[in-house]
Amino acid sequence: MTIQDIQTVKDLLAEQPVISIIPHKNPDGDAVGSCLGLYHYLKQLGCNATVVAPNDFPNFLKWMPAATDILIYDNEPEKATAQIEASTLIFTLDFNSLKRADTLTPLLEASVATFVMIDHHEAPEEYAKVTFSQPEASSTCEMVYVFIEAMGGALQIGAEIATCLYTGIMTDTGNFKYQSTHSNTYRVAAALIDRGANNSEINGKVYDTNSFDRLQLLSASLQNMVFLKEYHAAYITLTAEELQRFNFRKGDTEGFVNYGLTIEGSKLAAIFIQEGNFVKISLRSKGNVDVNMLAREHFKGGGHINAAGGRYDGTIEQAVALFREVIPAFLSQYI
Ligand code: 5GP
Ligand code: MN
Repeated sequence: MTIQDIQTVKDLLAEQPVISIIPHKNPDGDAVGSCLGLYHYLKQLGCNATVVAPNDFPNFLKWMPAATDILIYDNEPEKATAQIEASTLIFTLDFNSLKRADTLTPLLEASVATFVMIDHHEAPEEYAKVTFSQPEASSTCEMVYVFIEAMGGALQIGAEIATCLYTGIMTDTGNFKYQSTHSNTYRVAAALIDRGANNSEINGKVYDTNSFDRLQLLSASLQNMVFLKEYHAAYITLTAEELQRFNFRKGDTEGFVNYGLTIEGSKLAAIFIQEGNFVKISLRSKGNVDVNMLAREHFKGGGHINAAGGRYDGTIEQAVALFREVIPAFLSQYI
C-alpha cells in the first residue's frame, strides 16, 4: 500500500461516492469479516456504503456486527442490482478475479464505477484503479487493518470493526495455525484485541456452535476418508444423499477437509462435495505442495498455495477418478 494509493482512495472518498463492498461467492469468515470491517469504517467516515454479497453465508457468521445489513443478491436480486448500478466506487474484497463474484459478475463487468481491490490471493486481475494485493498476507482482514492504519484511522477502530477483522484473521489462519500466520498477523490481532475484539468470545461463537447433525455429518465424512499413503494424500467424499441425511446447512462442511492433513505424513487433503450436477472441491496442503496449481490445472479453480478450491462438472466418482489419476505425477514434483 503506497502513500500514493492511499491518497488516491482518500481522493475517491472525498467525491462522496455511492459505495458497494463485494465479497466472493460463498463468503467465508475472511470475506464477511473484511467487508463488514471496511463497512463500519466507511460508515464512521460518513460514507454511503453497502455490502452486497452474491449469496448467503453460514449461520456461524450471522452474529457479526451489522451482518444483517448485508444485501444478498440471491435473496433480493432487484435491490442488489440497483445498488451496484448506482455505485460509483466498488471495493472488491477477498477475491481478485471478477468471475469469483458469480451472479454479481455481469453487474460488476458492466459497472462504470471505480474499483478498489483488497485481496491476498495469487495473480490478481487488472480491473481496479487501486489494487492492494498481498498474497503473503494471512487474510484480507489483516490487510483491511493495515489499510485503515495507512488511512490514519487505527485509533478510530472500535469494537465493531475489531470484532469483524479479528474473526476473519482467526478463520483464515485456522486459528493462527497455518503457515500464512506471520508475526504481523499476531501484531494486528493484538491491536484488534486492544481495540475491543473479545478473542475468546469470537472463537466460541464461530467454533462452538455445532449442531448435532453437523457432527454426525463430520462422522460420515471421516468414515468416507481414503488415505493414499504412498502419495501422502487423503480425500473425503460427500454425496447429496449424505448431505440430506444430516440436514446439511450452509457452512456445515467448513473445515472438514483439514482432517485429511492431520494424518501423520499427509501433505495434501481434498474433499469432494456433490452440489447438484457438479462437484465442489476443496484442497489443502502442507509446505510447498501447491494446490493452487492443482485447482487451476484440473478443477477450474484456484486459491492459495496451501488452500484452494474448484469444481468438476460431472459425478463425484468421475471427480475422484481424475484426482487419483493426476495426483501421482503432481505430488512426485515434491516428494
Ligand atoms: P475453500 O476450499 O474454503 O472453498 O477455498 C479455499 C481457497 O480457495 C479460498 O481462498 C478460496 O478463495 C479459493 N477458492 C475456492 N474455490 C475457488 C474457485 O472455484 N476458484 C478460485 N479461483 N478460487 C477458489
Ligand atoms: Mn481470505
